[in-house]
Amino acid sequence: MIQDILPHVYDVTYKRAEIKPCDTVLVYREGKLLCHVEEGLIRYPTAKELECVCARVYELAKFMFVIDGANFFEIQKEEIKPFSGYEYVAKRDFRELGPDYLVFAGVTGFHVHDWYTDTSFCGRCGANMKGSTVERAMVCPSCGKIYYPQICPSVIVGVIDQDKLLLTKYSLAHSKHRNYALIAGYVEVGESFEDTVKREVMEEVGLKVKNIRYYKSQPWPFSNTLLAGYFCDLDGDREVKVDESELSTAVWLTRDEIPDTSNISLTGTMMMAFKRGDKV
Ligand SMILES: [Zn+2]
Repeated sequence: MIQDILPHVYDVTYKRAEIKPCDTVLVYREGKLLCHVEEGLIRYPTAKELECVCARVYELAKFMFVIDGANFFEIQKEEIKPFSGYEYVAKRDFRELGPDYLVFAGVTGFHVHDWYTDTSFCGRCGANMKGSTVERAMVCPSCGKIYYPQICPSVIVGVIDQDKLLLTKYSLAHSKHRNYALIAGYVEVGESFEDTVKREVMEEVGLKVKNIRYYKSQPWPFSNTLLAGYFCDLDGDREVKVDESELSTAVWLTRDEIPDTSNISLTGTMMMAFKRGDKV
């Protein structure tokens, strides 16, 4: 999955890190990230390389995280134009690029960057927010409100009926994603993950489920989400009633009928686990 970057090691522990010329800087602009791309492989500029296009790089850079002991920083609110081989690449295009650990760094950085941008002002009193010096948080100097990174929990659900798995496709209006997927949805206020599983399956395909069991989780920075994957068994009638505002189709497929799919996402990983006959 996208977070599986071994032998590389991601460390998100917050620290007050001083930026050095050799440190990597993620430069975000309007849903894009500044990269050098060659034969499908990306790299990001160092602070030293950015000096020529951003005189304030050392002053503006914010610490993000560490990979393999190397600090990653980000810059926002600074118009940096593409320079010497660097270009802006859209978030959606990162899934096709490598190496894996730099793709993970870039898209995870999008999540943090978007949160910094969205918390520029206090939602309670409207004052300019400031970054905390002790933790990853934004603090309002006027009313004291503290904002932590927004992570939206949601579920991915594999519904099983004996030798078949329920696969869905999104409606055109709901998503550009055209391949088979699993039931998915955000956790609502006051719900447990298990409650969300039951509600989303009922809402999307009109089925009851039982034996809900946790499988794996995945951070999915493309939508600022933390996904929790569950398998469950059909409870009763197997005839689906598709919610056409969200899905175009929902079908029961056997292991042989399930198409091979990438394991970068939890959805793909769950589909392949069922297809292989893993105990799920
Ligand atoms: Zn405030």
